[in-house]
Amino acid sequence: MRERLELFKGDITTLDVSVIVNAANSSLLGGGGVDGAIHRAAGPELVWECRKLNGCPTGSAKLTGGHNLKAAHVIHTVGPIWRDGNHGEPDLLTKAYRSCFALIRQMGFGSAAFPSISTGAYRFPLEQASRIAIQEGLAALEENLVLRKLIFVCYDAATLEAYQARIEQLAPVPA
Ligand code: ADP
Repeated sequence: MRERLELFKGDITTLDVSVIVNAANSSLLGGGGVDGAIHRAAGPELVWECRKLNGCPTGSAKLTGGHNLKAAHVIHTVGPIWRDGNHGEPDLLTKAYRSCFALIRQMGFGSAAFPSISTGAYRFPLEQASRIAIQEGLAALEENLVLRKLIFVCYDAATLEAYQARIEQLAPVPA
């Protein structure tokens, strides 16, 4: 699995993969952060398509086209807003990742890229969020052999460091 998992530091909208994941808000009508970047790069047709979806509950995921993106598809998922950790936040973040991987499997996508869901404006602690992301990613790679490449996009140095540390803990390269 480890060899099918990659970290990329940069902008998710530049990636040429089957599908990119958007960390959206429940309206699906656009926002800041990665959501804003994806809508800007995809063009206005993306929000027109999203309007027809009637939003998305936290932990769920919905599929659209990629429009002007290199990726032909976008999965919009909604991670939890961090309050204090006692409001089901870890379970909801796990659910968001699983909803995306279920769609990826259902659609037979060969490559996918994820941002660090909930760790920006939604303030989910990076250490715990990166552990959930890597755990769920490795589990998906194990059960879905059609998925040849899974990229976790780390937009800043702190995110990249956290993901690197989690990979070393959870999927060490054999000596
Ligand atoms: P959330 O509301 O789920 O926290 P944000 O978009 O605020 O979502 O942040 C999620 C992560 O996406 C953060 O690590 C942020 O730095 C990162 N990010 C912002 N812009 C981009 C981009 N263009 N490509 C990839 N990641 C991005």
